[in-house]
Amino acid sequence: MEDKKCIICGKTHLEIPLTQFDYKQTNFWICPQHIPVLIHEPTKMADLLPGADQFEAV
Ligand SMILES: [Zn+2]
Repeated sequence: MEDKKCIICGKTHLEIPLTQFDYKQTNFWICPQHIPVLIHEPTKMADLLPGADQFEAV
């Protein structure tokens, strides 16, 4: 069973509502606090999501 926690801060779905997103056939979870990072600063997530630094090209 996958561990549902924010990929950035590590908070679990027991602590905070999490949003699931799919990337390269893998499911990730992210908390509302860090969704803006995903939207506006994907380069900061390159370590977590390989290729995230290329999101801006979309
Ligand atoms: Zn978070």
